[in-house]
Amino acid sequence: MRKAEPAAGLPAICLIVARGRNGVIGTQGDLPWRLSSDLKHFKAVTSGKPIIMGRKTWDSLPRRPLPGRLNIVVTRQTGFAAEGGQVAGDLGTALVMAAAQAQADSVDEVFVIGGAQIYAAALGNAHRLYITEVEADPAGDAVFPTLEAGQWSEISREVHEAGPGDEYNFVCRVLERV
Ligand code: NAP
Repeated sequence: MRKAEPAAGLPAICLIVARGRNGVIGTQGDLPWRLSSDLKHFKAVTSGKPIIMGRKTWDSLPRRPLPGRLNIVVTRQTGFAAEGGQVAGDLGTALVMAAAQAQADSVDEVFVIGGAQIYAAALGNAHRLYITEVEADPAGDAVFPTLEAGQWSEISREVHEAGPGDEYNFVCRVLERV
């Protein structure tokens, strides 16, 4: 099967998420687990590349902005100030801003980093998914959208036993749209 490629010269639109077996990604504005190895994985994958997030995810960050990356916050609020980041009024505008930064920095990926509302809005535009499958079924109020069968092909998979600071085992997968 052929992979869906970004238009020439444009970066790939990537989603990066950690989800439970039940699809849960968040609870009461926070993550439903402590997985320090996955936070390191997130940093390694996204550093130096523009990241786009919903305003609630921005609010949930313990440290704002995430360093070494352009942080773009999507909100409907006029006049919202994201200190150390940039603000977009809709996802399309955020993707244009991210692509411009990626081209300026000669990087070939931009990342949508959540949460549930922004993943749902961005999934249809995505070329690549970095999914950490967490071996847990936590309670929660934020869920990753269901992937359509036959639309995605796995290009890598790494199994991780829970290490220090990890509550669960997890699997890091990369999927590409076919
Ligand atoms: P969210 O997607 O982070 O942010 C939602 C906000 O984004 C909305 O309230 C609105 O901001 C803005 N927004 C949404 N759609 C928009 C649109 N079409 N145009 C303009 N602005 C738009 O919130 P969420 O769905 O509640 O997700 C947050 C949860 O996910 C938290 O629990 C967080 O910890 C979790 N999370 C988990 C992961 C993971 O990988 N496990 C990753 C990220 C986040 P305004 O209200 O300001 O207008």
